[in-house]
Amino acid sequence: MTEQGLTIIYTGKGKGKTTAALGIALRAVGYEKKICMIQFIKGSWHYGEMISSKKLEPDFEMIAIGKGFVGIIDDKDPKEEHEKIAKEAIKICSKKIQSGNYDIIILDEINYAVNLGLIELDDVLKLIKSKPPELDIVLTGNYAKDELIEIADLVTEMKEIKHPFQKGQKAKKGIDF
Ligand code: ATP
Ligand code: MG
Repeated sequence: MTEQGLTIIYTGKGKGKTTAALGIALRAVGYEKKICMIQFIKGSWHYGEMISSKKLEPDFEMIAIGKGFVGIIDDKDPKEEHEKIAKEAIKICSKKIQSGNYDIIILDEINYAVNLGLIELDDVLKLIKSKPPELDIVLTGNYAKDELIEIADLVTEMKEIKHPFQKGQKAKKGIDF
């Protein structure tokens, strides 16, 4: 019997949401599981996980959808272009989710994408509701919508107690990116 897949959300202001999702991926690779991480928002930035994921291929696959949103986020009136990219992003997610090729799919920073109005909450709800029963799905980003929290099985809110950023310290390679 296959185990029931979980819908997991890492949200909140504190640091550790993407790190937690990557931790799941690292753990799961150990059991020959197949993971796909789809990154929203993180368009032109560079993160260590983009390099390490290559070392874990083909078990761990990483896709940067956020690139498509670059220029859209700050731009005030690119409505048509925006909608086109959003539709494309949802289509890619849907294809990956329905493919049956993965055990775990991580939608990194998707909560921010919803919150910024880049993608529709309804589309995300549909993605989750239509997922194969055994697939685990992880959503990260602060400001997770109540409707998503409602249908999730596991929700963790990262709480900020202290962050070096408060002392003016810059983001650190390998820790923050
Ligand atoms: P991480 O990727 O380190 O797990 P995160 O996913 O919880 O962080 P995001 O909201 O995605 O946090 O923020 C992305 C970037 O901002 C990362 O470089 C992260 O280290 C940094 N960051 C996260 N939380 C805070 C915070 N409370 N104050 C300042 N910087 C933060
Ligand atoms: Mg993050």
